[in-house]
Amino acid sequence: QDSQVSDTETITDGHRWPRQNSLSMREWDIPFEELRIGESIGTGRFGTVYRGYWHGDVAIKVFKMDNLNDEKALDQFRIEVSTFRKTRHENLVLFMGACMNPPQLAIVTSLSKGMTLYTHIHLRKDKFNMNKTTIVAQQITQGMGYLHAKGIVHKDLKSKNIFLENGKVVITDFGLFSVTKLCFGNRKSNALGIPAGWLCYLAPEIMRSLKAHQSHDDELPFSEASDVYAFGTVWYELLCGEWPFKGQTPEAIIWQVGKGMKQPLANLQASRDVKVSLCCGVYMYSVNMNSA
Ligand code: ATP
Repeated sequence: QDSQVSDTETITDGHRWPRQNSLSMREWDIPFEELRIGESIGTGRFGTVYRGYWHGDVAIKVFKMDNLNDEKALDQFRIEVSTFRKTRHENLVLFMGACMNPPQLAIVTSLSKGMTLYTHIHLRKDKFNMNKTTIVAQQITQGMGYLHAKGIVHKDLKSKNIFLENGKVVITDFGLFSVTKLCFGNRKSNALGIPAGWLCYLAPEIMRSLKAHQSHDDELPFSEASDVYAFGTVWYELLCGEWPFKGQTPEAIIWQVGKGMKQPLANLQASRDVKVSLCCGVYMYSVNMNSA
């Protein structure tokens, strides 16, 4: 039924929809006027997240758009949105729908009431004991394992995108990296901008693909393996309370990671168990890379 409609119908309500699954995609389309936008929670690289109301409290991520004429990128955004409806897991933020008609592009999810791992580890300097660390890490792997089983690569796993709510992990912001094409399409300069705290999550093959003048048509090689690498960094943060390669310049980090060098563990003030589990993280990444 779905494919019958989608094969014949690409322009509806004045909007162009990708052929594939056009009917089911429209089920997830929320008219922007239906949202009640409240106070801003924070602004990231690609837009601002607001507290809002849509059949209850929600988080609304409104994208800063500057490339509204790029139909290909818009289609890609809509197709990605349609994959989020497949996600039902207690460690993943609940995707409720999206506003998919320019100029207002937004994603509506459940509102996380807890704090991010970033806030716990880097701002509040909370120390988790080994038991709690393991439980948190296990929940992250369960959510990520589920995403991978559904064929979704997170592409931006980091402690800022992991909430802790009464001991439960909730992962946000998965699979949205292609939106960057819509957000930065008309930038005057395409010089590589490196947001603080981003580099240490990038796997060697991604580091090696970064260019001084990165264009958004240059796809970065994100994969399940690069997600596993990013998880390794979160695991390091959980165990050590800081990021790997702390205090080093972006150039030094890119050079070392690109060459396959790892953060030395010799001087780390941590037990042998902790060091062994960090090495296991590196091993998991290599296994994923080799099977990719
Ligand atoms: P980046 O753009 O580099 O990923 P970021 O994670 O800070 O940085 P956003 O994802 O745009 O940027 O988030 C902005 C703010 O909104 C952050 O403080 C984030 O913790 C908060 N936030 C995001 N999603 C939710 C949510 N579902 N519930 C509550 N707060 C959220």
